[in-house]
Amino acid sequence: VAFSAAAAAPAFGTLSGCAVSPVTGEQVLVGMTPQQEIAVTARVAPQQFSTDLGAVQDQALNAYASGVAANMHPRTHRPDMPYSYRVLNANYLNAYTFPGGAMGITRGLMVELDNEAELAALWGHELGHVNARHAAQRAGQAMVAEIAVAGLSIAVSDKNWGVAAGIGAQIGASALLASYSRDNEREADALGQEYMVRAGYPAEGMVGLHQVLLRSQKETPSALETMFSSHPMSSERVANAQQLAQAKYGGSRGAPVQRERFMDSTAQLRRIKPAIQACKEGETAMSRKRYPDAQGRFETALRTAPRDYAANLRMSQCLQAQGRRPDALRYADTARNLYPQEAQAHKQAGVLRLQGKQHQEALAAFEQFDQALPGDAGIVFLKGASYEGMGDRARAAQHYQRVVRTQQQGEAAQYAQSRLKAWGYAK
Ligand SMILES: [Zn+2]
Repeated sequence: VAFSAAAAAPAFGTLSGCAVSPVTGEQVLVGMTPQQEIAVTARVAPQQFSTDLGAVQDQALNAYASGVAANMHPRTHRPDMPYSYRVLNANYLNAYTFPGGAMGITRGLMVELDNEAELAALWGHELGHVNARHAAQRAGQAMVAEIAVAGLSIAVSDKNWGVAAGIGAQIGASALLASYSRDNEREADALGQEYMVRAGYPAEGMVGLHQVLLRSQKETPSALETMFSSHPMSSERVANAQQLAQAKYGGSRGAPVQRERFMDSTAQLRRIKPAIQACKEGETAMSRKRYPDAQGRFETALRTAPRDYAANLRMSQCLQAQGRRPDALRYADTARNLYPQEAQAHKQAGVLRLQGKQHQEALAAFEQFDQALPGDAGIVFLKGASYEGMGDRARAAQHYQRVVRTQQQGEAAQYAQSRLKAWGYAK
């Protein structure tokens, strides 16, 4: 699904322009204006954050993590971008930013960090990508247009209704998030280190961050695949960070890493670290279709954290994959009740009810999804299917028409098209 700038360019041609790099002051080739960086982010970021199961419900933790970054961004080269930060409920290890400055770190990675300086290094690195406009440099206008519909094709390519949002489908916004060049990564590291030092942290924090990533990669290679596909070559980066910490930023040595404050603020999250770990193992097992194994891991997670949104949702998906619909529904409804503002559990519950021919209840769940995450084409299709099940052909046709307007390919579009034909709405 990832369409790199290189792949998109020859097919569509690019309308790139020149801009002055906010970082170096030199002319750089960019394919997005700052307004487009912001608009594309607004369009795509909510989808991706929801794919990562939304921000953690612990408001104090989000506020703490955001505060660390918000203390740095006024000291960057683009202080006026609409930055926003959150800790995501996802269990795998990752952190990323959109070109408009919307960023996230997964809780799976958060629990691996040791102090605030490492967190500052991580946000600093992501701020580096935004400030050097790396995504804009990779993107052409065609890519901007593609991104605008990327969320749609993913949502409706969820095969038939039976297959809800797939685990490991961290592909939502991959066009924007993946495939930075090594030079981009080096530059983001260097900028991140500069920003964190400006904010009063010791430059060694960047070394610590890279050591965490290296260690995690050795322990569970699969957990880091996503992150290292976009942030590769870590041992070289450790060495670079170390060298800068000793030379250029030698003066920052001895500044506080704020370990105590970090440990206090993340205490609740670290308490459920075994559950996060078990979820992560369960997701890996799910991706290999080892469902009974996965179920055991999710059971372990739920013993530690019975009211965990992610664990309940994953258990539901795991049971659904084994054809255990009533049990799956029970966990999906628990997840919805635990975190009604997050969209994915509503979809999961709606799909399960649609399968069980409870069309009215399915529709209600999809409407809740809509409220949490507006503009998802897959949900338009599922609402159409619910209306069809209820015998409301007119409303079903309205929804199917919206599907075929935005989507020409894929099973959902084909199904919608065949219905419209059969009912005389289309030729
Ligand atoms: Zn990066």
